[in-house]
Amino acid sequence: MQNNKEWQAAYSVIEQLEQAGFEAVIVGGAVRDALLDRPAHDVDVATNATPEEVKSIFQRTIDIGIQHGTVLVIVPTGPVEVTTYRTDGEYIDHRRPEKVQFVRSLQEDLQRRDFTMNAIAMRRDGSFVDYYGGGQDIEMRVIRAVGNAQERFTEDALRMLRAIRFSAQLDFTIEATTLTAIKNKAADIAFIARERIKAELDKLWVGNAVFGGIQKLEESGLTANLTGDFHAEQWRGFHTQDKLLGWAYFALLQGANWREVLREYRLSNKEMAFVQSVLSAYEALKEGWTNTHYFMYTTQELEAALYFAKLLQLDAQFPQQPIQELQAKLPIKHKQELVVNGADLLKWSGKKGGPWVKATLEDMLTAILHYELQNDRQQIRNWLEQHYSHEG
Ligand code: ATP
Ligand code: MG
Repeated sequence: MQNNKEWQAAYSVIEQLEQAGFEAVIVGGAVRDALLDRPAHDVDVATNATPEEVKSIFQRTIDIGIQHGTVLVIVPTGPVEVTTYRTDGEYIDHRRPEKVQFVRSLQEDLQRRDFTMNAIAMRRDGSFVDYYGGGQDIEMRVIRAVGNAQERFTEDALRMLRAIRFSAQLDFTIEATTLTAIKNKAADIAFIARERIKAELDKLWVGNAVFGGIQKLEESGLTANLTGDFHAEQWRGFHTQDKLLGWAYFALLQGANWREVLREYRLSNKEMAFVQSVLSAYEALKEGWTNTHYFMYTTQELEAALYFAKLLQLDAQFPQQPIQELQAKLPIKHKQELVVNGADLLKWSGKKGGPWVKATLEDMLTAILHYELQNDRQQIRNWLEQHYSHEG
């Protein structure tokens, strides 16, 4: 795991910083995930070099968060985020520190981090710097605030949601004092921007222990201050790798006003469209799916709707074959495959254009999908004459 490209790149950055006389370590999620034998997505480096010093050492750098001390360093093995050791001065609004202060001490940098498991540093020689017992907490699978939990959540209310998101992601428990502090400070989550909340929920939905996570969200009182109804009990057995499926399921649990709820979390139009399709497919399943549904929804949408229906034990006729097989057998798979178009209808009927053209094409498609008609010009023409002659 530590042999992958991201780690190689981080090691090479550390080596060069050390050669220039600075101290540098790997910090945060990558160290935690390495100890858990989980793949990490970002391998972040922290250093006592200031951002200016970092920029002077490497040929290629990009300022990505210079005000927080973060520089992206590009080495041949890849990009690495390098952040100067810092403390987070005074917090305002329970959100962000007013100003960060660069420091030369690793311990101070680790102290500002949220949880003990996220406050471990690793040196290039493989040794750990662990002032707050993070290694032991990882072994015991507990999430514990660094320092006084209540103070840490007062500084930054998002940390409460992070605690629960991590517990769902890693299937960890939350240490008692830390959990009590969440209960005490739950109302402060209202100070946090929706986008940041969404980013945490994105990760919660795909967690191994999402049901337990949502139970904790409810028990701690956080859901009372978050938009939407969470219905913890309904998440029992829910499991997905796809965060959008989490949002679709959350939407389903909202009932009629799901749109307003999802809008609050700033889902994109594309994401909303997917959710809309899944919910419509779910509704349609109550009456049973026909070829029309296998035609109009994607496999992914139908599979999501079917998964939700099974989870919620919907009283419905479930398809007896894999959805993909049913779709593969459709007599027509795309509208463009229709051998007759609107222009043909106008020419054959001699009538003026109007909404009837679209409606007729739809009827035609339905008839073909249900094997009442073949997708053949002559047959369709005959069928049109039979079906529409009486309308003159
Ligand atoms: P993930 O695997 O989800 O990325 P992560 O631990 O890497 O988890 P990040 O949000 O990428 O989480 O943050 C990187 C590190 O920065 C954390 O491990 C933690 O040390 C610190 N950190 C992040 N957010 C906060 C916060 N709100 N308060 C204190 N420290 C934080
Ligand atoms: Mg990370």
